[in-house]
Amino acid sequence: MAKEDILKEVREKGIKSIRLQFTDILGILKNVAITTAQLEKALEGELMFDGSSIEGFARIEESDMYLRPDPNTFTVFPWRPIKGGVARLICDVFNPDGTPFEGDPRYALKKVVAEASSMGYTLNVGPEVEFFLFQVDGDGRPTTITHDNASYFYMTPVDLGEEARRSMVLTLEQMGFEIEASHHETAPGQHEIDFKYSDALDTADKIVTFRFVVRTIAQQHGLHATFMPKPIAGINGSGMHTNQSLFMNGQNAFFDPNGEMGLSKEAYNYIAGLMKHAHSFVAITNPTVNSYKRLIPGFEAPCYIAWSARNRSPLIRIPSKRGSSTRIEARFPDPSCNPYLALAVQLKAGLAGIKENLTPPSAVSQNIYKMSDEERKAQGIQALPANLYDALQELSRDGLIKETLGKHIYERFMKEGIKEWDRYRSTVHPWEVSRYLEMY
Ligand code: GLN
Ligand code: MG
Ligand code: MG
Ligand code: MG
Repeated sequence: MAKEDILKEVREKGIKSIRLQFTDILGILKNVAITTAQLEKALEGELMFDGSSIEGFARIEESDMYLRPDPNTFTVFPWRPIKGGVARLICDVFNPDGTPFEGDPRYALKKVVAEASSMGYTLNVGPEVEFFLFQVDGDGRPTTITHDNASYFYMTPVDLGEEARRSMVLTLEQMGFEIEASHHETAPGQHEIDFKYSDALDTADKIVTFRFVVRTIAQQHGLHATFMPKPIAGINGSGMHTNQSLFMNGQNAFFDPNGEMGLSKEAYNYIAGLMKHAHSFVAITNPTVNSYKRLIPGFEAPCYIAWSARNRSPLIRIPSKRGSSTRIEARFPDPSCNPYLALAVQLKAGLAGIKENLTPPSAVSQNIYKMSDEERKAQGIQALPANLYDALQELSRDGLIKETLGKHIYERFMKEGIKEWDRYRSTVHPWEVSRYLEMY
């Protein structure tokens, strides 16, 4: 969208407030609200904000940052009143000297996208985002009680969750999303909404928007939506399966009718690249302590570094569609990740696979969960890191992934991650008390 078109639409729709959005390194959406009077200045990239208050951004002494809105991201919030409406623009972050800010996750993704494009490729990404809808208590605080199993004593309509989801889909459609599927997931209170693939940057923008729309609409239905990967032990967690394909000159570069399984050499290289770096980039795609409680056997989430054409236990699956829909489905990411960084590291690893002409190990067709340690060892199948600490250690040893993040993001991400791990390991959890208090 051109700047003039934005100004015109804002005038015509009587929009009174604009939110300038960007994410911190953890992928948390930040807002600076401006009035329409300031919009023109903002569109020129002349709006300054104090970066020192944002997680992982600048130090106090380098706190002046500039926001440059990406005009393509202009969207009106459909749930706000027609008169006095609210719109948003997603922004890139710049230093006072006009150079892109190294700590901006969107910039990290843009760099890898540019590298892909210099090789002739566009990455298309279609995510499948899962989440839970939970009841809130009398004080409005979220619980882990799902509507499905709470409906017995809560006198609310049986399909409250479904109704909320329908309204999420409609709102997202009004905001330009093309929703391909939306359904109840396996666990009680768990839902999934899939939207149509787009290029990596647009998809990352859409994922942050998606999370915020889903939570807003859930709230309007008196529910809490969470993208926490494993809110309840013993049932499925929430993943964010990420369908990926490279396109070249408008053609799907992963498809080759004469290739093994209808896949091109690039597809195999890309899979091999992902598998080579998975152990270290899971710290980015699965960034919380809780993420690793989802990556355990038995809950449709991967825990081993393998790929398969059909089976759903490995890291990567190849959906059966071919032709222009040929793609790989990365099953490890979870929706707590920073989507800009998560897509940046995966694309970088896949491209490295192509540059280095890597070959993946043979596909695994058995259920890996059910294999013995010896069987896995014989096939060379390695496990993903078991916890955030191990994942961060792996990340610290992977030069390619560190380079993708850039020094600024890598150092802050690491520092935050270790701090988070220390908070976790210095806490005595209810499980430990219930297990040891009487035993010893
Ligand atoms: N919830 C599962 C996960 O954690 C996926 C379930 C599915 O989509 N088949 O990845
Ligand atoms: Mg799905
Ligand atoms: Mg699913
Ligand atoms: Mg899937």
